[in-house]
Amino acid sequence: MSLLRSVCVFCGSRPGLRPAYVAAARGTGELIAAQGWRLVYGAGDVGLMGEVARSAMAAGGRTMGVIPTHLLAREQGRRDLGQFVITEDMHERKKVMFMNSDAIVVLPGGAGTLDEFFEVLTWRQIGLHEKPILLLDTEGYWQPLIALIDHSIAEGYAEASMRDYFTAVPDVAALGERLRAALS
Ligand code: AMP
Repeated sequence: MSLLRSVCVFCGSRPGLRPAYVAAARGTGELIAAQGWRLVYGAGDVGLMGEVARSAMAAGGRTMGVIPTHLLAREQGRRDLGQFVITEDMHERKKVMFMNSDAIVVLPGGAGTLDEFFEVLTWRQIGLHEKPILLLDTEGYWQPLIALIDHSIAEGYAEASMRDYFTAVPDVAALGERLRAALS
C-alpha cells in the first residue's frame, strides 16, 4: 500500500518581477506531480499560486486547494482541483492546509506568504509539529528574511535553534532532494 505524501506550498498571489520566480513555481508544481505527491495550496489561480497548480495539474499531479470564502472572487479560486475546500476565514485555511500536509514549501511572496511562513515557524518553535519547512530561495529572494531572523537571534529574541526549524534551498533540484529525503 502506498502512502500519499502531501506538500503544502505557500507562495505569492502575484507573479513577482523576475521570470525566475515563475519558472521556480512551475518547476515546483512539476516536481510535486512527478514524485506522486499531492499539492496542497491556496487554490488561487493568480500569481505563483496559479503557476504551481497549473503545472502540477498539467503533469497529472494530485491537488488540494483551500480558500476562504471572501477570497474566492479575488484570487479566482479554481475548482477543477482534486479536492477543493472552502473555509470560513484565513485562520482556518492555514490550519487546513497545514493539517493536510507532510512538508511545507515557501516560494517567493509578499505579506500573506510571510504570514503563512511565520505561522508554521512559530508552531514549530513551540513544539507543535516537526514538519520540514523549506524556503525556495530563488535568486536569493529570502536572504533578507534570513538575515532578519539571524538578527532576532543575535539580539536575544529567539533561540539559535530557530535556524534549525527551516532550510533554505537555492533551486527546485535541491528542493526535490530535501523533500525526497524527508518524505520517503
Ligand atoms: P501574498 O504573498 O501577499 O501574495 O499572499 C499569498 C497568500 O497569502 C495568498 O493565499 C493570500 O490569500 C494570503 N494572504 C494575503 N494577504 C494575507 C493576510 N493579510 N494575511 C494572511 N494571508 C494573506
